[in-house]
Amino acid sequence: MPQNTFTKSKPCESITDLPSLGLEKEDFITDFKRYYSYRLGRDEHCRSPHYAYEALSLAVSDRLVERWKNTYNTYRESDCKKAYYLSMEFLMGRTLSNAMLNLGITGAVAEAMYDLGLEIEELIESEPDAGLGNGGLGRLAACFIDSCATLQLPVTGYGLRYEYGMFSQVIVNGEQVERPDHWLKNGNVWEIERPEYTHRIKFGGRVEQSVNERGVKRRSWVDTTDILAVPYDTPIPGYQNGTVNTLRLWKATATEEFNLEEFNAGDYAESVAAKNTAENISMVLYPNDANENGKSLRLQQQYLLASASLQDIVANWVGRHGNNFTHFAEKNCFQLNDTHPSVAVAELMRILMDTHGLKWAKAWEITRQTMAYTNHTLLPEALEKWSVSLFERLLPRLMEIIYEINAHFLAEVALHWPGDNERLARMSLIEEGSEKKVRMAYLAIVGSFSVNGVAELHSKLLQEGLFKDFYDLWPDKFNNKTNGVTPRRWLAACNPELAKFITEMIGDKWITDLSELKKLENFVNDKKFCKKWYELQQNAKQRLIDYKKTEFDIDLNVNALFDVQVKRFHEYKRQLLNVLHVIHLYDRIKRGDTENWTDRCVLIGGKAAPGYYMAKRIIKLINNISDVINNDPDVGEKLKLVFMPNYRVSAMEKICPGADLSEQISTAGKEASGTGNMKFMMNGALTIGTLDGANIEIREEVGDDNFFLFGLTEDEVEDLRHHYDPVNMINQDEDLQRVMNLLECGHFNQFEPGIFDDVINSIKSSGDPWMTIADFRSFVNAQKRVEAAYQDKDLWTRMSIINTANSGKFSTDRTIKNYSDEIWNLEPVAISK
Ligand SMILES: *Cc1c(COP(=O)(O)O)cnc(C)c1O
Repeated sequence: MPQNTFTKSKPCESITDLPSLGLEKEDFITDFKRYYSYRLGRDEHCRSPHYAYEALSLAVSDRLVERWKNTYNTYRESDCKKAYYLSMEFLMGRTLSNAMLNLGITGAVAEAMYDLGLEIEELIESEPDAGLGNGGLGRLAACFIDSCATLQLPVTGYGLRYEYGMFSQVIVNGEQVERPDHWLKNGNVWEIERPEYTHRIKFGGRVEQSVNERGVKRRSWVDTTDILAVPYDTPIPGYQNGTVNTLRLWKATATEEFNLEEFNAGDYAESVAAKNTAENISMVLYPNDANENGKSLRLQQQYLLASASLQDIVANWVGRHGNNFTHFAEKNCFQLNDTHPSVAVAELMRILMDTHGLKWAKAWEITRQTMAYTNHTLLPEALEKWSVSLFERLLPRLMEIIYEINAHFLAEVALHWPGDNERLARMSLIEEGSEKKVRMAYLAIVGSFSVNGVAELHSKLLQEGLFKDFYDLWPDKFNNKTNGVTPRRWLAACNPELAKFITEMIGDKWITDLSELKKLENFVNDKKFCKKWYELQQNAKQRLIDYKKTEFDIDLNVNALFDVQVKRFHEYKRQLLNVLHVIHLYDRIKRGDTENWTDRCVLIGGKAAPGYYMAKRIIKLINNISDVINNDPDVGEKLKLVFMPNYRVSAMEKICPGADLSEQISTAGKEASGTGNMKFMMNGALTIGTLDGANIEIREEVGDDNFFLFGLTEDEVEDLRHHYDPVNMINQDEDLQRVMNLLECGHFNQFEPGIFDDVINSIKSSGDPWMTIADFRSFVNAQKRVEAAYQDKDLWTRMSIINTANSGKFSTDRTIKNYSDEIWNLEPVAISK
């Protein structure tokens, strides 16, 4: 760490006194050449677009850093309240094109590159995705920090700098194979290492009682094995407003101390090798979406995030206010993205008490006034519980604090419901049983002043079900914040042709006020407008076809209905229901039942958690069916099924503009919100969906006529559970019988007997929690309505326009405004440009 300081007391201020950097074409040409030749040492013989990408990114990054410092200084001088978004995942995707858009330099840079004989698209495409997240939860964090910067809110993102992000997916013989994603192998031009803000993180050891010089008793956590957390900062620009916020990601490294025993025994190499264990902590993202597995390394990651981030914020506070925490809660707010960082509740207590000497009551008051928790799932398997024995071994002081929080909390419960011991056991932070466990969601609720769900239905179900006891105790803590997506990345940048047209028609205010899109509805009867809208949709489909062609040789018909389901593979998301419908269409073709046929391309993409057997089998099933259908001459153009490998942010940027139909078909009550649904809607796709998550709100906004609804409601799903009989349902439905027969006779696995038995049995089981069979008939009927609508081009175009026009609610600008007004209480801070 460069801890040494200048020998002169203070360097001359002029070392940072620079003229502002130009934003004209010529400025980028000059800077590009300088970086390309000198910093990167390349010449005209270099064949790789990567270095051109790097040279351009360095030039763009300079413009960000300039504004970044200005923002930092403005916040510091204003002494404003700040919020911190703590998240184990930030699924950022690529940075370059977003940075150019937000700096307002897209045009100038494109011209500069053109003059240099470079293809800007090729440079953009050579950037690897920053895939530091699994799916919706991580992408939400990325959209949130974009909106915070655009709304000029002083919010910092805190996360982990995984060396390996989300695995990359390849398909071998129809099956998912995971490849490590070494996204940092060529360096990362967007980050700046800041070793001067390193913090020490303790693990293991034991707790002892000590008495300080004034006779005050203290708990001390001693004999620990420490690691260091080193921050790497990435600039997060707002949309053309001078604000550049910070995403701070922690990397675990070894302390510079050696194991003295080993060292003196001459085991120098072994002693140095201990460094490895420390660096392992931030080595890899856990690739499990919505299910947990209790691994020690994962708890270490969570504590690293919580401890490093809180130490950072508290150190900054102490630097300005000394040990006076009187106003700390008025100036700071922590948003916990799911329970993953929820050990922060106990960690803030530890820092305030053990490091800064606050009493329990004061520390607890501060904690409960600064922590806010967002729940992301109702699935019981996703609720984190850590074994008490693991906690005691790894974080003994934290475990002690959690016990004490629990004791205070249970006393509060006992006061509220005297004699209700069952309730005490239900609500305890500690789950009793053969193995005692810490219920992290309960810790988060008890330690927070706000608990929110991510869509209306989800928030309601939390209050009525999962967290009912807590809702009864503290109804005012609970609230809803419906998710969104950033319209910069998910419309302006990913669909520039449509964005340009929209701006020509209604001006460009929509980019920062998405409700402006409503004005597009004025044009639904304007023939010229509709024709243009249709053409742009077809162009986007063609671009998607071309993109897929570069990956594998498949000819798709631009006039077919593009029916798209891309998201993580999970049984609750029901890719299987989609598959049953595809088999039904195939069966109709084979039977010659094709009167009035609508050609359809079904595109499916997504990753399965590596240990999720059923999800991986479903991927294999899709690939096998795809092989049969796409190679059957009877089928031809009528139906295609394509699995798109390695679904990720940069893939979605090409997929969502080119979709006609968005599949949002989860079992009602299981998808907390969904955000893929919003990206598709914004880009003019129509939704076929259940009454689940934000689908409900999408349908409310767009109107029943412009949404293809099907399926059981959440209530109906719960009622049916008691007498669900899928085998009988199959027997009652001839089409479904034929579909199941094709599956069961091995039509799609002729040379791999039995491999789909488990998949088939799961949907035929009366205990199938996802009730796929129950929604088949309703889904097929809704798909028929889709086809009828698609055959009427004018009608479809009109519906498409109405979808985009009514997507305003689903901007994260709206979501973040709600968080800021109702939870964080922040004021925007204007930045002088
Ligand atoms: C938006 C997005 C998601 C979330 O999709 P859902 O359909 O809401 O599950 C997941 N992964 C990526 C790469 C995304 O861009």
